Amino acid sequence: MAETLTISENLVAESRLPQVDFNNIPFGRVYTDHMFVADYVNGEWTDLRIVEYGNMSLSPANMALHYGQSIFEGMKAFKDEEGNVLMFRPEDNAKRLNRSAVRMCMPELPVDIFMSGLTRLLEIDRGWVPNLPGTALYIRPYMFAMDEYVGLKPSQNYRFMIFACPVGAYYSEPVSVKVEEEFTRAAAGGTGEAKAAGNYASSLYPAKLGQQQGYDQLIWTDGIEHKYIEEAGTMNLMFVIDNELYSPALSGTILPGITRASVLQVAEEWGVKVHVGRLAVETVINAHREGKLQEVFGVGTAVTVSSVSKIGYRGEDFELDMDNRALSQKIATYFEEIRYGRKADSHGWVIKL
Ligand code: PMP
Repeated sequence: MAETLTISENLVAESRLPQVDFNNIPFGRVYTDHMFVADYVNGEWTDLRIVEYGNMSLSPANMALHYGQSIFEGMKAFKDEEGNVLMFRPEDNAKRLNRSAVRMCMPELPVDIFMSGLTRLLEIDRGWVPNLPGTALYIRPYMFAMDEYVGLKPSQNYRFMIFACPVGAYYSEPVSVKVEEEFTRAAAGGTGEAKAAGNYASSLYPAKLGQQQGYDQLIWTDGIEHKYIEEAGTMNLMFVIDNELYSPALSGTILPGITRASVLQVAEEWGVKVHVGRLAVETVINAHREGKLQEVFGVGTAVTVSSVSKIGYRGEDFELDMDNRALSQKIATYFEEIRYGRKADSHGWVIKL
Protein backbone atom coordinates (compact mmCIF):
# COMPACT_ATOMS: atom_id res chain seq x y z
CA MET A 1 0.00 0.00 0.00
CA ALA A 2 2.78 2.44 0.93
CA GLU A 3 4.28 2.26 -2.55
CA THR A 4 0.97 2.77 -4.37
CA LEU A 5 0.60 6.01 -2.43
CA THR A 6 3.53 7.61 -4.18
CA ILE A 7 2.02 10.39 -6.23
CA SER A 8 4.06 11.61 -9.19
CA GLU A 9 3.85 15.29 -10.05
CA ASN A 10 4.16 16.99 -13.38
CA LEU A 11 3.34 20.58 -12.56
CA VAL A 12 2.68 23.55 -14.82
CA ALA A 13 5.53 25.95 -15.50
CA GLU A 14 3.22 28.93 -15.16
CA SER A 15 -0.03 29.11 -13.22
CA ARG A 16 -3.19 30.49 -14.85
CA LEU A 17 -4.11 32.01 -11.51
CA PRO A 18 -3.17 35.63 -12.36
CA GLN A 19 -5.73 35.57 -15.20
CA VAL A 20 -8.65 34.78 -12.88
CA ASP A 21 -10.96 37.54 -11.67
CA PHE A 22 -12.06 36.18 -8.31
CA ASN A 23 -14.77 38.81 -8.06
CA ASN A 24 -16.52 37.37 -11.05
CA ILE A 25 -16.29 33.58 -11.35
CA PRO A 26 -18.96 31.72 -13.29
CA PHE A 27 -19.93 28.48 -11.47
CA GLY A 28 -18.17 25.39 -12.80
CA ARG A 29 -16.33 26.98 -15.71
CA VAL A 30 -12.96 27.93 -14.27
CA TYR A 31 -10.60 25.07 -13.38
CA THR A 32 -7.48 25.08 -11.25
CA ASP A 33 -4.05 24.37 -12.78
CA HIS A 34 -3.90 20.69 -11.89
CA MET A 35 -5.90 17.50 -11.50
CA PHE A 36 -5.31 14.20 -9.73
CA VAL A 37 -5.52 10.98 -11.75
CA ALA A 38 -5.28 7.29 -10.83
CA ASP A 39 -5.82 4.28 -13.07
CA TYR A 40 -7.28 0.91 -12.19
CA VAL A 41 -5.43 -1.68 -14.26
CA ASN A 42 -5.09 -5.43 -13.68
CA GLY A 43 -7.11 -5.24 -10.51
CA GLU A 44 -4.99 -2.50 -8.88
CA TRP A 45 -5.02 1.25 -8.48
CA THR A 46 -1.82 2.50 -10.00
CA ASP A 47 0.03 5.45 -11.54
CA LEU A 48 -1.24 8.04 -9.04
CA ARG A 49 -0.35 11.42 -10.48
CA ILE A 50 -0.93 15.14 -10.40
CA VAL A 51 -0.83 16.62 -13.88
CA GLU A 52 -1.91 19.78 -15.64
CA TYR A 53 -5.69 20.17 -15.96
CA GLY A 54 -6.53 19.51 -19.58
CA ASN A 55 -8.19 17.32 -22.16
CA MET A 56 -7.49 13.62 -22.32
CA SER A 57 -7.93 11.13 -25.08
CA LEU A 58 -10.53 8.35 -24.89
CA SER A 59 -11.35 5.49 -27.19
CA PRO A 60 -14.55 5.97 -29.22
CA ALA A 61 -15.51 2.58 -27.74
CA ASN A 62 -14.90 3.75 -24.15
CA MET A 63 -17.45 1.76 -22.16
CA ALA A 64 -18.45 4.61 -19.83
CA LEU A 65 -19.80 6.51 -22.84
CA HIS A 66 -22.01 3.62 -23.91
CA TYR A 67 -23.01 1.73 -20.79
CA GLY A 68 -22.73 4.46 -18.19
CA GLN A 69 -20.35 3.12 -15.57
CA SER A 70 -19.64 6.59 -14.28
CA ILE A 71 -19.96 7.93 -10.74
CA PHE A 72 -19.00 11.19 -9.08
CA GLU A 73 -18.84 13.21 -5.90
CA GLY A 74 -19.19 16.90 -5.09
CA MET A 75 -17.53 18.63 -2.19
CA LYS A 76 -16.08 21.99 -1.21
CA ALA A 77 -12.98 23.47 0.40
CA PHE A 78 -12.98 26.85 2.17
CA LYS A 79 -10.39 29.33 3.33
CA ASP A 80 -10.48 30.70 6.85
CA GLU A 81 -9.35 34.18 7.85
CA GLU A 82 -5.76 33.00 8.41
CA GLY A 83 -5.62 31.42 4.95
CA ASN A 84 -5.96 27.80 6.11
CA VAL A 85 -7.78 25.51 3.70
CA LEU A 86 -10.67 23.66 5.37
CA MET A 87 -12.63 20.67 4.08
CA PHE A 88 -16.03 19.49 5.30
CA ARG A 89 -16.32 15.74 6.05
CA PRO A 90 -14.18 14.70 3.04
CA GLU A 91 -13.95 11.05 4.09
CA ASP A 92 -17.72 10.80 3.86
CA ASN A 93 -17.44 11.65 0.18
CA ALA A 94 -14.76 8.97 -0.24
CA LYS A 95 -17.01 6.42 1.44
CA ARG A 96 -20.07 7.42 -0.58
CA LEU A 97 -18.04 7.13 -3.79
CA ASN A 98 -17.29 3.56 -2.79
CA ARG A 99 -20.93 2.75 -2.09
CA SER A 100 -21.76 4.11 -5.55
CA ALA A 101 -18.91 2.04 -7.00
CA VAL A 102 -20.26 -1.19 -5.52
CA ARG A 103 -23.74 -0.54 -6.92
CA MET A 104 -22.39 0.25 -10.38
CA CYS A 105 -20.13 -2.83 -10.37
CA MET A 106 -16.99 -0.71 -10.27
CA PRO A 107 -13.90 -1.16 -8.08
CA GLU A 108 -13.73 0.62 -4.74
CA LEU A 109 -11.00 3.19 -4.26
CA PRO A 110 -9.04 2.96 -1.00
CA VAL A 111 -10.01 5.95 1.11
CA ASP A 112 -6.34 6.81 1.63
CA ILE A 113 -5.83 7.19 -2.13
CA PHE A 114 -8.86 9.50 -2.30
CA MET A 115 -7.63 11.52 0.68
CA SER A 116 -3.95 11.68 -0.41
CA GLY A 117 -4.88 12.70 -3.95
CA LEU A 118 -7.30 15.32 -2.67
CA THR A 119 -4.87 16.68 -0.09
CA ARG A 120 -1.93 16.88 -2.51
CA LEU A 121 -4.06 18.56 -5.18
CA LEU A 122 -5.27 21.14 -2.67
CA GLU A 123 -1.73 21.75 -1.40
CA ILE A 124 -0.49 22.39 -4.92
CA ASP A 125 -3.49 24.48 -6.00
CA ARG A 126 -4.17 26.13 -2.64
CA GLY A 127 -3.86 29.56 -4.22
CA TRP A 128 -7.06 28.74 -6.11
CA VAL A 129 -9.17 28.40 -2.96
CA PRO A 130 -10.86 31.82 -2.92
CA ASN A 131 -11.06 33.77 0.31
CA LEU A 132 -13.80 36.31 -0.38
CA PRO A 133 -16.90 35.88 1.80
CA GLY A 134 -19.15 33.06 0.66
CA THR A 135 -16.71 31.69 -1.94
CA ALA A 136 -15.27 28.17 -2.04
CA LEU A 137 -13.37 25.70 -4.15
CA TYR A 138 -15.81 23.18 -5.59
CA ILE A 139 -14.16 19.77 -5.89
CA ARG A 140 -15.25 17.06 -8.28
CA PRO A 141 -13.93 13.52 -7.65
CA TYR A 142 -15.19 10.95 -10.19
CA MET A 143 -14.59 7.49 -11.60
CA PHE A 144 -15.47 5.95 -14.93
CA ALA A 145 -14.93 2.85 -17.07
CA MET A 146 -11.89 2.87 -19.33
CA ASP A 147 -12.22 -0.33 -21.36
CA GLU A 148 -12.42 -0.12 -25.11
CA TYR A 149 -15.09 -2.71 -25.75
CA VAL A 150 -18.49 -3.12 -27.35
CA GLY A 151 -20.73 -5.48 -25.38
CA LEU A 152 -22.44 -5.26 -22.04
CA LYS A 153 -20.24 -6.34 -19.17
CA PRO A 154 -18.38 -4.58 -16.37
CA SER A 155 -15.28 -2.78 -17.59
CA GLN A 156 -11.93 -4.19 -16.40
CA ASN A 157 -10.15 -0.83 -16.30
CA TYR A 158 -11.21 2.43 -14.66
CA ARG A 159 -9.95 5.94 -14.07
CA PHE A 160 -10.40 8.04 -10.94
CA MET A 161 -9.87 11.78 -11.16
CA ILE A 162 -10.27 14.93 -9.09
CA PHE A 163 -10.41 18.43 -10.49
CA ALA A 164 -11.56 21.64 -8.82
CA CYS A 165 -13.24 24.93 -9.65
CA PRO A 166 -13.19 28.13 -7.61
CA VAL A 167 -16.80 29.29 -7.18
CA GLY A 168 -18.12 32.70 -6.27
CA ALA A 169 -20.43 33.62 -3.44
CA TYR A 170 -23.65 31.79 -4.04
CA TYR A 171 -26.61 33.95 -3.09
CA SER A 172 -29.30 31.33 -3.24
CA GLU A 173 -32.59 32.90 -4.13
CA PRO A 174 -35.62 31.00 -2.82
CA VAL A 175 -36.74 28.39 -5.36
CA SER A 176 -40.13 27.27 -6.58
CA VAL A 177 -40.61 23.51 -6.83
CA LYS A 178 -43.16 21.29 -8.53
CA VAL A 179 -44.21 17.94 -7.10
CA GLU A 180 -43.46 15.51 -9.93
CA GLU A 181 -46.06 12.78 -10.25
CA GLU A 182 -45.48 11.50 -13.76
CA PHE A 183 -41.75 10.89 -14.07
CA THR A 184 -39.60 9.01 -11.57
CA ARG A 185 -36.01 9.72 -10.61
CA ALA A 186 -35.32 6.36 -9.01
CA ALA A 187 -37.18 3.12 -8.47
CA ALA A 188 -36.92 0.71 -5.55
CA GLY A 189 -33.98 -1.56 -6.30
CA GLY A 190 -32.58 0.93 -8.80
CA THR A 191 -29.58 3.24 -8.52
CA GLY A 192 -31.13 6.21 -6.72
CA GLU A 193 -28.85 6.09 -3.70
CA ALA A 194 -25.73 5.91 -5.86
CA LYS A 195 -24.23 9.11 -7.21
CA ALA A 196 -24.31 7.66 -10.71
CA ALA A 197 -24.10 9.91 -13.75
CA GLY A 198 -27.18 8.35 -15.36
CA ASN A 199 -29.43 9.40 -12.48
CA TYR A 200 -28.73 12.99 -13.38
CA ALA A 201 -29.18 12.47 -17.13
CA SER A 202 -32.62 10.95 -16.63
CA SER A 203 -33.72 13.84 -14.42
CA LEU A 204 -33.08 16.50 -17.05
CA TYR A 205 -36.12 16.07 -19.27
CA PRO A 206 -38.74 16.10 -16.47
CA ALA A 207 -36.89 19.07 -14.91
CA LYS A 208 -37.04 20.91 -18.25
CA LEU A 209 -40.80 20.34 -18.46
CA GLY A 210 -41.14 21.64 -14.91
CA GLN A 211 -39.16 24.75 -15.86
CA GLN A 212 -41.43 25.33 -18.84
CA GLN A 213 -44.30 25.37 -16.35
CA GLY A 214 -42.46 28.01 -14.34
CA TYR A 215 -40.84 25.93 -11.58
CA ASP A 216 -37.14 26.05 -10.79
CA GLN A 217 -36.85 22.46 -9.62
CA LEU A 218 -38.80 19.27 -9.03
CA ILE A 219 -39.70 17.43 -5.86
CA TRP A 220 -39.35 13.79 -6.84
CA THR A 221 -41.86 11.34 -5.44
CA ASP A 222 -41.60 7.58 -4.99
CA GLY A 223 -41.68 5.47 -8.15
CA ILE A 224 -44.60 3.29 -7.11
CA GLU A 225 -47.47 5.53 -6.00
CA HIS A 226 -45.95 9.00 -6.48
CA LYS A 227 -47.25 9.63 -3.01
CA TYR A 228 -44.16 10.07 -0.86
CA ILE A 229 -41.60 12.84 -1.06
CA GLU A 230 -38.06 11.87 -2.05
CA GLU A 231 -35.65 14.71 -2.84
CA ALA A 232 -34.98 17.57 -5.24
CA GLY A 233 -32.46 17.79 -8.11
CA THR A 234 -29.25 18.00 -6.09
CA MET A 235 -30.65 18.59 -2.63
CA ASN A 236 -32.30 16.61 0.14
CA LEU A 237 -35.48 18.16 1.48
CA MET A 238 -36.54 19.37 4.92
CA PHE A 239 -39.94 20.55 6.14
CA VAL A 240 -40.80 22.43 9.33
CA ILE A 241 -44.34 21.59 10.43
CA ASP A 242 -45.59 22.90 13.76
CA ASN A 243 -41.99 23.65 14.85
CA GLU A 244 -40.84 20.08 14.19
CA LEU A 245 -38.43 19.02 11.43
CA TYR A 246 -39.44 16.35 8.90
CA SER A 247 -37.23 14.74 6.26
CA PRO A 248 -37.70 11.67 4.06
CA ALA A 249 -35.84 8.56 5.24
CA LEU A 250 -33.03 7.09 3.17
CA SER A 251 -35.27 4.61 1.42
CA GLY A 252 -32.67 3.36 -1.05
CA THR A 253 -33.94 5.67 -3.76
CA ILE A 254 -32.55 8.97 -2.51
CA LEU A 255 -28.99 10.16 -2.26
CA PRO A 256 -27.65 10.00 1.32
CA GLY A 257 -26.59 13.64 1.50
CA ILE A 258 -23.74 14.56 3.78
CA THR A 259 -25.35 17.94 4.43
CA ARG A 260 -28.65 16.19 5.24
CA ALA A 261 -27.02 13.92 7.83
CA SER A 262 -25.19 16.88 9.38
CA VAL A 263 -28.30 19.09 9.49
CA LEU A 264 -30.46 16.38 11.07
CA GLN A 265 -27.81 15.73 13.71
CA VAL A 266 -27.35 19.40 14.58
CA ALA A 267 -31.11 20.06 14.70
CA GLU A 268 -31.52 17.19 17.13
CA GLU A 269 -28.69 18.56 19.28
CA TRP A 270 -30.48 21.89 19.35
CA GLY A 271 -33.52 20.15 20.79
CA VAL A 272 -35.63 20.27 17.65
CA LYS A 273 -37.95 17.29 17.33
CA VAL A 274 -36.77 15.47 14.19
CA HIS A 275 -38.90 13.02 12.20
CA VAL A 276 -37.13 10.91 9.59
CA GLY A 277 -39.48 8.58 7.78
CA ARG A 278 -41.93 8.33 4.94
CA LEU A 279 -43.40 11.72 4.25
CA ALA A 280 -46.52 11.87 2.09
CA VAL A 281 -47.05 14.87 -0.20
CA GLU A 282 -50.57 15.08 1.25
CA THR A 283 -49.15 15.48 4.78
CA VAL A 284 -47.18 18.54 3.64
CA ILE A 285 -50.07 20.01 1.64
CA ASN A 286 -52.53 19.47 4.50
CA ALA A 287 -50.09 21.10 6.90
CA HIS A 288 -49.99 24.09 4.54
CA ARG A 289 -53.78 24.23 4.39
CA GLU A 290 -53.92 24.20 8.18
CA GLY A 291 -51.31 26.95 8.40
CA LYS A 292 -48.79 24.63 10.05
CA LEU A 293 -46.21 24.36 7.25
CA GLN A 294 -43.62 26.92 8.36
CA GLU A 295 -40.52 26.21 6.26
CA VAL A 296 -39.47 24.08 3.32
CA PHE A 297 -35.81 23.96 2.28
CA GLY A 298 -33.28 21.90 0.41
CA VAL A 299 -29.83 21.03 1.76
CA GLY A 300 -26.72 20.03 -0.18
CA THR A 301 -23.08 20.87 -0.76
CA ALA A 302 -23.66 23.37 -3.55
CA VAL A 303 -26.25 25.53 -1.78
CA THR A 304 -25.91 24.45 1.86
CA VAL A 305 -29.50 25.64 2.45
CA SER A 306 -31.93 26.72 -0.27
CA SER A 307 -35.35 28.02 0.74
CA VAL A 308 -38.46 26.89 -1.09
CA SER A 309 -40.84 29.78 -1.74
CA LYS A 310 -43.59 27.87 -3.53
CA ILE A 311 -44.73 24.26 -4.01
CA GLY A 312 -46.72 23.41 -7.13
CA TYR A 313 -48.97 20.37 -6.65
CA ARG A 314 -51.66 19.19 -9.07
CA GLY A 315 -52.01 22.60 -10.67
CA GLU A 316 -52.23 24.51 -7.42
CA ASP A 317 -49.48 26.67 -5.93
CA PHE A 318 -48.77 26.69 -2.21
CA GLU A 319 -46.76 29.72 -1.13
CA LEU A 320 -44.35 29.72 1.79
CA ASP A 321 -43.80 32.71 4.04
CA MET A 322 -40.28 33.93 3.28
CA ASP A 323 -40.30 36.12 6.39
CA ASN A 324 -40.44 33.03 8.55
CA ARG A 325 -37.27 31.05 8.00
CA ALA A 326 -36.02 30.84 11.55
CA LEU A 327 -34.73 27.27 11.57
CA SER A 328 -33.33 27.18 8.03
CA GLN A 329 -31.51 30.45 8.58
CA LYS A 330 -30.10 29.25 11.89
CA ILE A 331 -28.87 26.11 10.10
CA ALA A 332 -27.38 28.09 7.20
CA THR A 333 -25.52 30.40 9.61
CA TYR A 334 -24.25 27.52 11.72
CA PHE A 335 -22.79 25.63 8.76
CA GLU A 336 -21.37 28.79 7.21
CA GLU A 337 -19.55 29.58 10.45
CA ILE A 338 -18.03 26.15 10.98
CA ARG A 339 -17.07 25.67 7.33
CA TYR A 340 -15.13 28.94 7.29
CA GLY A 341 -13.60 28.25 10.68
CA ARG A 342 -15.35 31.19 12.33
CA LYS A 343 -16.91 28.95 14.94
CA ALA A 344 -15.39 25.92 16.65
CA ASP A 345 -16.51 22.65 15.09
CA SER A 346 -17.47 20.33 17.92
CA HIS A 347 -18.19 17.35 15.63
CA GLY A 348 -14.80 16.81 14.00
CA TRP A 349 -16.32 17.51 10.58
CA VAL A 350 -13.99 20.30 9.48
CA ILE A 351 -10.56 19.05 8.43
CA LYS A 352 -7.67 21.45 8.03
CA LEU A 353 -5.40 20.77 5.05
N1 PMP B 1 -29.44 14.64 -3.59
C1 PMP B 1 -28.83 14.58 -4.79
C2 PMP B 1 -29.52 13.87 -5.90
C3 PMP B 1 -27.57 15.17 -4.97
O1 PMP B 1 -26.96 15.12 -6.16
C4 PMP B 1 -26.95 15.83 -3.88
C5 PMP B 1 -25.60 16.49 -4.05
N2 PMP B 1 -24.56 15.57 -3.87
C6 PMP B 1 -27.63 15.86 -2.65
C7 PMP B 1 -28.86 15.26 -2.54
C8 PMP B 1 -27.00 16.49 -1.43
O2 PMP B 1 -25.89 15.74 -1.00
P1 PMP B 1 -24.67 16.41 -0.24
O3 PMP B 1 -25.22 17.07 0.95
O4 PMP B 1 -23.76 15.27 0.10
O5 PMP B 1 -24.05 17.37 -1.19
